[in-house]
Amino acid sequence: MIRMPALFIGHGSPMNALERNGYTEAWRTLGRQLPRPRAIVVVSAHWFIGATAVTAMSRPRTIHDFYGFPPKLFAFEYPAPGAPEVAKEVAEVVKPSWIGLDQDQWGLDHGAWSVLAHLYPAADIPVVQLSINALKPLEYHVELGAQLAALRDRGVLILASGNVVHNLARIDPRQPDTGFDWARRFDDAVVTKLARDPGGIVAMTEHPDYAMAAPTPDHFIPLLYLAGVAREEGALDALIRGYALGSLSMTCYGVGAEAQPDQNEHGAAKLPPGVPADQTNT
Ligand code: ZN
Repeated sequence: MIRMPALFIGHGSPMNALERNGYTEAWRTLGRQLPRPRAIVVVSAHWFIGATAVTAMSRPRTIHDFYGFPPKLFAFEYPAPGAPEVAKEVAEVVKPSWIGLDQDQWGLDHGAWSVLAHLYPAADIPVVQLSINALKPLEYHVELGAQLAALRDRGVLILASGNVVHNLARIDPRQPDTGFDWARRFDDAVVTKLARDPGGIVAMTEHPDYAMAAPTPDHFIPLLYLAGVAREEGALDALIRGYALGSLSMTCYGVGAEAQPDQNEHGAAKLPPGVPADQTNT
C-alpha cells in the first residue's frame, strides 16, 4: 500500500465551500493529483474542546457552525460516510494518549467540508474528524501528529484545516487579496521554519507577530499536526501561498504531495456584506 500524503489547508471563509476562486481551484487541482485514500482523518480548527475525541459514527452529519451566512451555505451537505474502524485505529496508534470515540456529539464541521468539497467533491471517501484538545500544551499536538503519521502507511490521508494567520478582529474588506505587514512577516517566518525544522514549530509562538497572527490558537494548532507528521522527514514545503482580508493567511502545506497546483490569481471567498467579522466564526 502506498504511503498517503498529509496536508494542511488554509481554509479561510466558509463561503469557499460554494465558490470557485483561485484557492478552491488550487484545492481541486491538488485533489485530482492525490491518490485515493482508504479514509481521511481531519483535524479542524472548529472542533476545539476540552478533550481529545474522534468521530466514530457511520454517518457523520454536516455541521453548519457559523452565523450570518447565506441559506445556501446552511443547506450545504457533505455526505461522506464515517469510518468507525478507522476511528479505532486512530485511538490505537496514539496510545498511551487517550482518545474518546464520539458517537453522537460532532460530525463534519465547515473546517472539514469547505475543503473536502473541493479535494474530494464526490464525498465517497470515509472521513473521521479528530478534535483539538484545548487543554493540552502545544507540544502535545505535534506529538499526536507524529503518532498519526503511522496511518499514512495504512491508506489514510491526514488533512489538517486551519489558518496560519487568523485574526478576525482585524479583517479588512478593503484588502481582499493581501495581508497586513505583520501577517506576511509571520506567515513568511513559518514557511522558513517549516522548511528547516518542522518539529520545532512551537518556537514560532516566540515570534513578535505571533500574538497578532494567532490571538486564539485554534486555527494555528492544526498546523502543528502536520509539523508532527513531517518531523521525521526534516522539511515541510508550502504548496499554496496567499492572503485574504488582510488578516488571514491562505497558505497550504503538504507532505508527500509534491505536485505544485496552480497559484492563486483570483482571491479567496469574501464575507457576505454586512456580516460582522467577529460573528462569522470563520
Ligand atoms: Zn475557520
